[in-house]
Amino acid sequence: MSDQFTAPITTVAEIPALRAMIQTQRSQHASIGFVPTMGALHSGHVSLIEAARRDCDFVVVSIFVNPTQFGPNEDFDKYPRVLEQDLAKCQSAGADLVWTPTKEIMYPPHFSTHVTVETLSQTLEGATRPTHFEGVTTVVTKLLLSCLPDVAFFGAKDYQQQAIIRRMCLDLNIPVEIKTCPTIRDADGLALSSRNAYLSPAERASALALSRALKLAEEKVRAGEADLNQVKAEMRQLLNTTPLVKLDYATIVDADTLEEISSPQSEMVALVAAYVGATRLIDNSRLSLP
Ligand code: AMP
Repeated sequence: MSDQFTAPITTVAEIPALRAMIQTQRSQHASIGFVPTMGALHSGHVSLIEAARRDCDFVVVSIFVNPTQFGPNEDFDKYPRVLEQDLAKCQSAGADLVWTPTKEIMYPPHFSTHVTVETLSQTLEGATRPTHFEGVTTVVTKLLLSCLPDVAFFGAKDYQQQAIIRRMCLDLNIPVEIKTCPTIRDADGLALSSRNAYLSPAERASALALSRALKLAEEKVRAGEADLNQVKAEMRQLLNTTPLVKLDYATIVDADTLEEISSPQSEMVALVAAYVGATRLIDNSRLSLP
């Protein structure tokens, strides 16, 4: 065992300093990988950092709990903030730099520009959280323009989010490749989420209903069920009969347009959202034809 001293990972808050550090790397022909997060990092985030480490020469992780993507009665104030632990995880996953902007840096006085992705932002999460995606797309635009990475890494766990960000980068000619990495789950199927920390043991058990509903959809469709409305009804039934769970939506959509479908097709995804106690959880799964 070596007990060599390891220097802590470099952090930066201000955008000009971030840009200077990235520019130094660029001038040495390093490719830049970027992983935007809100912190409270778990193995899902770590998998994105590891993917960036594999694909790029210099890996930047941002940690910013973005106030504008939370609704007025949502959990912004109680969202977990554990910077020291997060920095250790970034370092062991192989990140080179952690960008920790403040609210004042991201939203200085008189801030008044917003990015809206129409249509894709209005369904599913957008129907229940009407201001959420404008907060996401505005902050992700700022994050991408500040770093100007070659590749940015997002999780399939937030399926609608990555679809919206892909659309936004195309529409606005933001020259960044978007990579979507697989959802990381606990052994029993629960998708990892920073919000799982809110769950009591009983709620944690009930939360499995989300991944079970998706498994049910995967199995039915793979077995040849042609009536997706029937599959959706069974997913809803499973969620509605689980204690502590309040269903928001359980549906199957076209993987690109996010429009609801009732017959199987080659590219489709099942999505669920539910409150488990007071905690709102989402999950999704691509479905395959028989
Ligand atoms: P967040 O910190 O929740 O904003 O998430 C930051 C990034 O991590 C987003 O691209 C998420 O989709 C991704 N992510 C969150 N949970 C998971 C997971 N369980 N597996 C893979 N990626 C995830």
